[in-house]
Amino acid sequence: MKRALIEADKCLNCKICTAAESCQRSAIFRECDDEKPWVDFYKCTGCMKCKNSCKGKAIMFITQPCSMSGRSSW
Ligand code: SF4
Ligand code: SF4
Repeated sequence: MKRALIEADKCLNCKICTAAESCQRSAIFRECDDEKPWVDFYKCTGCMKCKNSCKGKAIMFITQPCSMSGRSSW
């Protein structure tokens, strides 16, 4: 299973997060207006649409194998 992850040191904390705007699952969001965004792994499907929309090239992807029960831990 693949999920998007925002690298905090690369994120420019743009006033308007174009990566979040490109996400049809609303998986990228901010807790507060002045905080950097983060990805909700339970909403993210790993579609990669946000990657090219990010102005800071801060989106990376991580892969998590399924457990023996077929469930992921995120
Ligand atoms: S577009 Fe990219 S660099 Fe800008 S706030 Fe969103 S995740 Fe950070
Ligand atoms: S990979 Fe897809 S679902 Fe996940 S945050 Fe990016 S655009 Fe949204």
